[in-house]
Amino acid sequence: MKALFITAPQKWEILDIPTPEITHDEVLIRVDYVGLCGTDLELLNGKHPYFSTHDAKFPMQIGHETSGTIAQSTNPALPVGTEVIMDPIVGCGNCEACKNRATWCKERIEIGVRRGGPGALAEYLKVPVTNVYPIPQGVSLRDATLAEPAVTAIAGISRIKATSGRALVVGDGTIGIIAAQVLAHRGWQVLIAVLSEASAERVRSLGFEPVLPQQMETISAEVVVEAAGTHRSIQTAFRAVSAGGEVVLLGVPDKPLESFDIAGLVLRDVSMYGVLNGPGKYIEALNLIAEGVIKSSKIIDQEFAFAQFGDAIGLLANPERKLPKVLVSMRS
Ligand SMILES: [Zn+2]
Ligand SMILES: [Zn+2]
Repeated sequence: MKALFITAPQKWEILDIPTPEITHDEVLIRVDYVGLCGTDLELLNGKHPYFSTHDAKFPMQIGHETSGTIAQSTNPALPVGTEVIMDPIVGCGNCEACKNRATWCKERIEIGVRRGGPGALAEYLKVPVTNVYPIPQGVSLRDATLAEPAVTAIAGISRIKATSGRALVVGDGTIGIIAAQVLAHRGWQVLIAVLSEASAERVRSLGFEPVLPQQMETISAEVVVEAAGTHRSIQTAFRAVSAGGEVVLLGVPDKPLESFDIAGLVLRDVSMYGVLNGPGKYIEALNLIAEGVIKSSKIIDQEFAFAQFGDAIGLLANPERKLPKVLVSMRS
């Protein structure tokens, strides 16, 4: 089968390798679509924090947001032909952390990201049965790729204790837009903080009210969802939250913040939640896509054939693209 290998920063090649062999606890998926995100860009550039902890190294096979069709299985619940998505996080299954959440396991493999789990930019992918979810009726293979980024937004929103009011989403990438769509569906008045007039225009076209940096002084919100992960966006999030409010942190900054106003949090009784991924939220994510709450037409920009991976990466790295998500179609 053909599979993409990142061999060094910004160098990749598509190689012919043997199709993976599965055990009884795994299924073989014929990959249909792969969504690309900032994590892929960081891995491709050799800049992801997992390189510094040796949890990622070249050569590596990336691709963690995927949908496909079961090609081999001994599991009666997942027969050949079933359309599925996968949860890429595979805990060791033996440690204390794994009893709670695979995302807390120090030994965890993240398929396409961490500890050598071969990623989805290949014709076939083997995945543990426990990490596979059938795609419900009415959801296309293309749209189903959004389930992986969606679980992070859904897990973040599930931590919020308040039930109504104003919510500010900081960041207009895939996870930010999904968070805004879900919050609006739940009745929140949603604003999205953006950095430029071009982003503001885009956010307006998606049906949300943008807030530019010069307007931030006057904005406060009971709930702030930080989905950009930059120092600036995190500062914006904490400045905007109202007294007694809640901040949900979804973005991961590349290094510690130099100055952080802890006193400002204590004196205003602010709660903050760090949220890594959303194990257990995949069925909810797929249902929200099926119900049209998560709208792919407002998230997916373009799709590229596997052979055009370079063009897909070029668009992903271009901040001027219209919509945040770039897909690779593995069958074309
Ligand atoms: Zn991703
Ligand atoms: Zn474990």
